[in-house]
Amino acid sequence: MKYHVDGELVPAENATVSVEDRGFQYGDAAFETMRAYGGSIFEWSAHAERLAGSCETLGIDHGLSDAELRKRIRETLDANDLADAYVKLSISRGVQEGKLTPRPDADPTVVVIVKELPRGGVEGADVWDEPATVQTTKTRRIPDNALPAEAKTHNYLNGILARRELVEGADEALLRDAEGNVAEGAASNLFLVGEDGIHTPSLDGPVLPGITREVVIELADEAEIPVYTGSYAPDDVRNAEEAFLTNTTWELRPIESVDGIEIGGGPVTNLLSRLFDERVERRHYDGD
Ligand code: PMP
Repeated sequence: MKYHVDGELVPAENATVSVEDRGFQYGDAAFETMRAYGGSIFEWSAHAERLAGSCETLGIDHGLSDAELRKRIRETLDANDLADAYVKLSISRGVQEGKLTPRPDADPTVVVIVKELPRGGVEGADVWDEPATVQTTKTRRIPDNALPAEAKTHNYLNGILARRELVEGADEALLRDAEGNVAEGAASNLFLVGEDGIHTPSLDGPVLPGITREVVIELADEAEIPVYTGSYAPDDVRNAEEAFLTNTTWELRPIESVDGIEIGGGPVTNLLSRLFDERVERRHYDGD
């Protein structure tokens, strides 16, 4: 395996960053997780835009164009002869003099990691093995006025602490906001299906603007399924007709149960999954 580190392709075992790197020291870094389908990065421009926003929030001026970042990803896929892959692009503030206070001088560390991830959905094996078993956690989602959820940073301790609470058999944590409304999974967005359409927690709350979430909203709009965003209580999840999670690697993943109460997928989740597959298929041929 070869990874991209600071502009060089290196064997995975030599792909290292400094122990003084601020990404390691403080989580002072931004990243994107992407899927390559047939060599194309699905929703590349949305990922590039979100990464730029995360870097802006952190004040990391890496000075690389989106085209240069895309080129490094393409080189990494090519070097590993991969067309269908998980791709992670991380940009940390790098090594700096001094301690916590970031300095304006930029020498960021830019890393691309890839792993083979075969195409799921109608074309192949599902990317998730089983529907999700979800547990509402005591750990609350960090409020936006402490760490803005729209910035996808290396600080994932909130989700890690929530996942540490999971009891045997549960595989995704559902975090509530400070008011007790459901926000999102540790690494996924939440959708509920009601008789009136689909519902997802609003981005006014501490919710990462998931790219899969956005695609699902677009697909539902196209299919004339009403989409509502708002505040939802844990009971709204437990009482939903169907519920599913979204993220780049899982795509759409039905929720089998939450806190031991069965929900399951159903016709709306299946329809949206099929539309998602068709969208992947189209992009796959169009390229990115
Ligand atoms: N919320 C959180 C906290 C996440 O880590 C992720 C995964 N990136 C998501 C939602 C889903 O986002 P996306 O669809 O862009 O993968």
